[in-house]
Amino acid sequence: MLLNDKTCLVTGAGSGIGRAIAQAFAREGAVVGVADLDAGAAEETATSIRDAGGRALALVVDVTDEAAVDTVIDQLAASCDGIDVLVSNAGIQHIAALTELDYADWQRVLRVHLDGSFLTSRACLRHMRAQGRGGSILLMGSVHSKLASPLKAPYVTAKHGLIGLGRAIAREGAAYGVRANVICPGFVRTPLVDRQIPQQAEELGMSEEDVVSRVMLKDTVDNEFSTLDDVARAAVFFAAFPTNALTGQSLLVSHGWHME
Ligand code: NAD
Repeated sequence: MLLNDKTCLVTGAGSGIGRAIAQAFAREGAVVGVADLDAGAAEETATSIRDAGGRALALVVDVTDEAAVDTVIDQLAASCDGIDVLVSNAGIQHIAALTELDYADWQRVLRVHLDGSFLTSRACLRHMRAQGRGGSILLMGSVHSKLASPLKAPYVTAKHGLIGLGRAIAREGAAYGVRANVICPGFVRTPLVDRQIPQQAEELGMSEEDVVSRVMLKDTVDNEFSTLDDVARAAVFFAAFPTNALTGQSLLVSHGWHME
C-alpha cells in the first residue's frame, strides 16, 4: 500500500472531493484525519472509512479559525505520532458579477481558500519540521488557478493565489523534506458544483443543460466531467511521491479543458 501508516489530514473531507481523497488514502493504508466544519458530515466520512476496514478520525474545525486549526492539528499529531500529509481542500464558491459582488462575500471566499490553506499548512509544517521525516502538502486548486470564468472573481483570485502559496511552501519546506503541490481539477459533480448550475443558469439566462454543455464542459476534449476517482488518484500519486523531484508543481485534472 502506498501510504501505509502515514497520518494524513484532509480538510473539507465531509463531502465531495475531500471525502473521496480521504477514502482513497485510507484504502492505501493511511490513518486519516477527516476534518470538516460540518460535524455530521465529517463523522459520516470517517464511519464510511471504518466500515470499509480503514482507519479514520472525525475532526470538527473551521479552517479560518487560527486557534481551532492549531488545536485540532496538535491533537491529531499527538494521537497519531505526527503528520505526514496535508490536503488543504475545504472550499466554497460564490457566483456573482463583479459589479454586484459584496465585499463580505469576496472576503469569505478568500478566507476559506487562502487563510484556510495558510493556517493548516503552517500548523502541519511545524509538526513536519519537528518530526524530521519530511511530509507532503497538497493544496486543492482548480482549472480556475490557471484561467478565469465570469461570475467567479473571488474564487478565481483565491485559486490563483494557491499556486503562489504552493510554490512558497515548496521553497521553504525543502529544507526539512516537505514537498508542496497543487491539484487543479476541472468540473467534478459535487454539491459545490450542483449548487452553482441553477445559479449560473439564472445569471446567464440559459437552461441548466446549456450551463453544463456550453459553459462548464465546452472546452474539454470530450465534454466529460472529471470524477472524484480521477482527483483522488492524483492526490494519492502526489502524497506518495517519495522525493523532492516533484514539488512546487500544479497538475490539471480536467479532460483537457486547459492545457499547458
Ligand atoms: P463540497 O461543497 O462538496 O465540499 C466542500 C467541503 O468543505 C464541505 O464538506 C464543507 O463543509 C467544507 N468546508 C467549507 N468551508 C469550510 C471551512 N471553513 N472549514 C472546514 N470545512 C469547510 O465541494 P467540492 O466540490 O468537493 O470541493 C472541494 C475542493 O475542490 C474545493 O476547494 C473546491 O474549490 C475544489 N474544486 C472543486 C471542483 C468541482 O468541480 N467540484 C473543481 C475544482 C476544484
